[in-house]
Amino acid sequence: MSQKTSPRPLEVACPQCHKKVAWVEENLYRPFCSKRCKLLDLGAWADESHRIAGETAMDETSIDEMILQAERDFSGSNS
Ligand SMILES: [Zn+2]
Repeated sequence: MSQKTSPRPLEVACPQCHKKVAWVEENLYRPFCSKRCKLLDLGAWADESHRIAGETAMDETSIDEMILQAERDFSGSNS
């Protein structure tokens, strides 16, 4: 395969609607997919009604770890 490898943006699941979101600078609402989801989530926290309903795809800790790992990968690639 002689395909050019373009850097793939890290993808996370929107904590609100679980849609796949590319972790890119232009996404101001990351890890949320949109402003709406971010506000909904913040509102839920403010109401203290943010409960885990069923299973979540990924908790915040694993998202943080993923991001840290991705950042390490990016900064550590000087070949
Ligand atoms: Zn969303």
